[in-house]
Amino acid sequence: MSPKDAIPLVHASLGEQELAAVAEVFASGWPAGQGPRGKALEAQLKERYGAGDAVAVSNCGAALHLAMLALGVKPGDEVIVADYTFPAPAHAVRYVGAVPVLADVRADTGTIDPQAVADLIGPRTVGIIAVDTVGMPADYAQLQTLADRHGLFVVEDAACAVGATYQGREAGALAEVACLSFHGRKGATSGEGGALIATDPAVGADARLRSSFGIGSIFDQAQVVGLPIPEFTEIGYNFKLSDIAAAILQVQIGRIGELLKRRSQVAARYGELLADEELLTLPQVPEDRTHAWQSYMVTLDPSVDRAALAKDLRAQGIGCGHGTWATHVQPVFAGKETCPVSADLFARNLAIPMHAELTDDQTERVAAALRTAVRTHRTTPGRAA
Ligand SMILES: *Cc1c(COP(=O)(O)O)cnc(C)c1O
Repeated sequence: MSPKDAIPLVHASLGEQELAAVAEVFASGWPAGQGPRGKALEAQLKERYGAGDAVAVSNCGAALHLAMLALGVKPGDEVIVADYTFPAPAHAVRYVGAVPVLADVRADTGTIDPQAVADLIGPRTVGIIAVDTVGMPADYAQLQTLADRHGLFVVEDAACAVGATYQGREAGALAEVACLSFHGRKGATSGEGGALIATDPAVGADARLRSSFGIGSIFDQAQVVGLPIPEFTEIGYNFKLSDIAAAILQVQIGRIGELLKRRSQVAARYGELLADEELLTLPQVPEDRTHAWQSYMVTLDPSVDRAALAKDLRAQGIGCGHGTWATHVQPVFAGKETCPVSADLFARNLAIPMHAELTDDQTERVAAALRTAVRTHRTTPGRAA
């Protein structure tokens, strides 16, 4: 099989428009962060999310870290985090010396289970980080009710969810603070990149200051006539997004609708082609939300050997992967918690190719190969057909 027949799991849709935007930044002479492009991107995001502030940062991990600092999370505090996810939320809680308390997820959506959250709230709990799992928004109405009752914050990890909606509202605007990722495997990308979206402008201002070593924008200071010497007022980090990346993102944000439309068509086609395959459970999107389809994950029947199946598909040039992680079984987070639903999804889920440039033909090839492979790789004998 030639490499050109390969069907990658993900593919970033970056092209001529993004290149032209980068060329403009080169010509402007300001490639670093917090310059004109960064500010324009922040204005674009603030408007899109109807937010109090939007801060462009180097990645979503940095946005989560800044969120913990801006919300005042202290060593010893407990933050309840979704277990079934790229484990960035648990990392963020640990960055500030606090304790991530891992909550199990709903079997049907893979998103944090509000009942599990309710059961874990204790005297040291200060907040909740919900995750829009591979693009599926969590249950924010129930989570916010719990948070209000107990005086907790809610952070939305919308890393994968740009373009999704919940009860008619945009993912990224579903909690007081939301964190976005523009990593190369997400629906809108600048290679690496992220943003913090806040309803409270004070949270945004705090995050912006700490994203730049605790001083204001160097670009702004260079515009002032005279010699004002800025002062460092916080121990900050360098989490700035470059203006090169910001320029790419301005184009990508404008293309979210177009790119998501195609991913949604691919998801719908997989749904048709795989619906009657009893060894697979397909993603179910509750009626009150829409999916951003960062990944398309199917759940394999327990009788299917996932590793053998994945090896087979990859040998045919079809990209696939385990999807995302159960945080509680990662060595660095392993503790007393058990999250059986998350563990089960981590063991049985399979991500199949999903991106905006998949053709109908490729979608059909993936579905056909998967249908054959689930039968080839059954470990326990099935009933005779
Ligand atoms: C990808 C991802 C992140 C990390 O994003 P980066 O921009 O790579 O830091 C965080 N949370 C979730 C849920 C993710 O999927």
